[in-house]
Amino acid sequence: MERHEKSKTIVERAKKDGVQFVDLEFVDIMGTTKACEITVEKLEGACNEGLWFDGSSIEGFARICESDMYLVPDLDSYAVMPWSGGRVARIMCDVYSDEGKPFEGDPRNVLRRMLKKAEEKGFEFKVGPELEFFLFTNGDAVQKLRPHDDAGYFDLGVRDEADEVRRQVVTHLDKIGLRVEMNHHECAPGQHEIDFTYGPALKIADYVQVYKTAVRTIAKGMGLHASFMPKPLEDVNGSGMHVHQSLWKSEKNAFFDENGRYKLSKTAEHYIAGQLAHARALAAIVAPTVNSYKRLVPGFEAPVYVCWGQVNRSALIRIPRYKKGREGSVRCEFRAPDPSANPYLAFAAMLAAGLDGIERKLEPPNPIEENVYRFSDEELEKKGIPLLPNSLHSAFCELEKDKVLQEALGKHVYEKLVESQKREWADYKRHVTKWEIDRYFGVL
Ligand code: GLU
Ligand code: MG
Repeated sequence: MERHEKSKTIVERAKKDGVQFVDLEFVDIMGTTKACEITVEKLEGACNEGLWFDGSSIEGFARICESDMYLVPDLDSYAVMPWSGGRVARIMCDVYSDEGKPFEGDPRNVLRRMLKKAEEKGFEFKVGPELEFFLFTNGDAVQKLRPHDDAGYFDLGVRDEADEVRRQVVTHLDKIGLRVEMNHHECAPGQHEIDFTYGPALKIADYVQVYKTAVRTIAKGMGLHASFMPKPLEDVNGSGMHVHQSLWKSEKNAFFDENGRYKLSKTAEHYIAGQLAHARALAAIVAPTVNSYKRLVPGFEAPVYVCWGQVNRSALIRIPRYKKGREGSVRCEFRAPDPSANPYLAFAAMLAAGLDGIERKLEPPNPIEENVYRFSDEELEKKGIPLLPNSLHSAFCELEKDKVLQEALGKHVYEKLVESQKREWADYKRHVTKWEIDRYFGVL
């Protein structure tokens, strides 16, 4: 359908839906959703001509001297936001430079570019992320980090506000076409998980953004504070964003082989080997904050070591068990990402690492089925298992050496990302923590 015709259809649909406002949304390099709201009367013009904005005010976008940019609404992403009482719809946008070219600093553009590369090899990239989050009691107690409950993994507990938050999120997401497979209480007090359906990476990245907004908005409405911070409480599990992945070729799962190890095809094994080979640099993209590295420590079901296995939750890559007749669900689960990652950049970088493995026909090391947390340093060394970076600093130093991932991000995003991580690290490095005061002040 012609763009103009399509715009008309969307406007008619919005009017029929009773929408009054439309949020034109895009993401900055840090993964923050940005929006410019227009009235429905302005929608047709915005769809046809785009909407100009000042790129220099967006984190990591443009310099003052080249700041004019415009948004091009991706009309397929139109959806009414149910929590707005039906008054607001959102449309995800691609960002263009004033010369009319897709802006290389736009994370959606980074993912689109990588998906195109995969397509040229005949692959479609499908992902299923699992975002965990905490619910805290609101108000002053946010500062005190009081989890909303004391429950644990799969606990039914007392039917309370948290159940209602999860249920409302599921209902609302369903209304915008995002099927939720299951939702449950996670291991830590106040921690939850809502897993949504597997699908094409760009669509799912858009959904990650809307999912976070839904959880935060609905929690707030129930008097709770939702946080996607990777490790808000030091003695319990942090929150991950594990990403299940597979490549499809001609509508078939290219990761499946009836006779393969764990039912994995050779393509899947090369892909996994690629992600293991780039894992240390990938960390800077999938675990991009200072706090991310407080999660990646032994004992909390988060990965610390660069290895893979089937049931092993301490491994970086896990292969979920195969169920007979479910060829489509053969996949690998990358467990390093956390919800502070920009999903567009994370998916693009993971795909780049996997494709590099396929291109170079890399072989994965032997899978590890023991609990890696229990291995001594000697055992780790003997088995040749490297560690993930233990800080944001070591992660971005790895990224500075990784040409494949740099190319996947593109020069603009790579430079801006590392620049902002360096700033964050410098800021953190000079901060004197409560831990240091407690430990040293009285005795030194
Ligand atoms: N919360 C854990 C993490 O930080 C994962 C728990 C699970 O396996 O779902 O990754
Ligand atoms: Mg989980």
